[in-house]
Amino acid sequence: MSEGKCAAAIIESALEEVLAERMRQNAKWGEQNHDPITWLAILTEEVGEFSEAALHLRFGGPKAAGLRAEAVQVAAVALQIVECIDRGKMPFRRTVLESALLISLKRLVAAESASKWKFDAEEINEIEAAIEQADTVIARAELAP
Ligand SMILES: [Mg+2]
Repeated sequence: MSEGKCAAAIIESALEEVLAERMRQNAKWGEQNHDPITWLAILTEEVGEFSEAALHLRFGGPKAAGLRAEAVQVAAVALQIVECIDRGKMPFRRTVLESALLISLKRLVAAESASKWKFDAEEINEIEAAIEQADTVIARAELAP
C-alpha cells in the first residue's frame, strides 16, 4: 500500500467514525439549531473533555483511554455547526450582520462629528434613521425565542 493510499484510508476511517458519532447525536438530540454562542459552549464542552482525557493520559487518570473518542466528538460537533449554518437555521445570524452594519453606521457618524467628512443635514438624517432602524431590528431579534 502506498503512503498516499494509507493516509486516505486513515482519513476515510476517521470520517466514518465522525459520521457514526453524528448519527448517534441525531438519534439522541434530533436536529440542532443553535446560535453561535451556544454552539461555542457545546464545542468547548467537548474540547474540555478532550483536554481532560489528555491530562489523564499525561499524568494518569481514568479518562486517558477516551482521548480519541473525545476527538471524534469534537469533530462531530464541529460538523453539526457547519450543518446548522448550511440549513440557514442559525439564530442571530442576521443579527450579527445587522450589528456589523450598525457599528459601521455609528463609526460613520463618529467620523462625521470628528469632521473627517462633511455630510449635509439630509444625509445625517438618513444615517440616523438607519441607525434607529437597525437598533429596532436588533432589539426585536434579541427578544425572539
Ligand atoms: Mg465528549
